Amino acid sequence: MSEVRHGRGAARSGLRPKLTATFFSLLLLLTVTVWPLRSTALAYGAGPLDAARIMLVNLLKGPVRVGIQVGHLQAADHPEEHRDLRWNFGGHYAGVNEVDINLAVALELQELLEARGVTVDLLPASVPVSYSADAFISVHADSVDDPARNGYKSAHFEPERNQLDAVLKRYIDAAYLAGSPLADDALNVSSSMIRYYAFNPVYRHRINTRTPALLVELGYISNPADRAFLQEAAQPASLIAHGLIAFLQEIGRLAPADGDTADSAARW
Ligand SMILES: [Zn+2]
Repeated sequence: MSEVRHGRGAARSGLRPKLTATFFSLLLLLTVTVWPLRSTALAYGAGPLDAARIMLVNLLKGPVRVGIQVGHLQAADHPEEHRDLRWNFGGHYAGVNEVDINLAVALELQELLEARGVTVDLLPASVPVSYSADAFISVHADSVDDPARNGYKSAHFEPERNQLDAVLKRYIDAAYLAGSPLADDALNVSSSMIRYYAFNPVYRHRINTRTPALLVELGYISNPADRAFLQEAAQPASLIAHGLIAFLQEIGRLAPADGDTADSAARW
């Protein structure tokens, strides 16, 4: 009998470390899942199920990435399929080169987005084969013979390549037209804008058809007032950044701004 009792005691004492290990494993599991889930729910103002979905999707998609194309930059490097564009260096007016404006705005935009934790690819006129990102913006400025013509406009590819192209356009247009003194120049959107080579699925060097992409014409370097606005690159850049961040928040890739989520805390 005493041997049996001894045996049971040994079994009990052997069980204790196992229970302790299980307890700490469960605690670790709770820490690595529930805590980030709670943080996600609070940041996005979502319930537990939505938070789990957002967390999983963002985990699978990886870091938030935006491609910014500097219109006409390094045009001579276009591949054979775009050889006709190798001499398209962009507009020039009153000593100002469009490509210099495009680059200055793109660099400011890159800095603003990176400060929000977004990974930015600064790209020249020729884009990588089927380039993919959460969003893509092609930065251009207009130049025409008539110095009175002015304003901002944008275009995505038509026919639409995906459902998010139009959403991206809505956010960028809203931010730019509300925040700048520039007029809406939508009536002058050209066929070369809506059939932009870098969005056109018939080519190899173009944006992935699932990546929302927009071409922006920031204003006219041939118009004195537009030109003065564009030469302060931080101004147009901050408006594009504002629209882009709102778009990334809309599609769940960036958490909403503080203050939008206060009521979500009550659910946790
Ligand atoms: Zn251009």
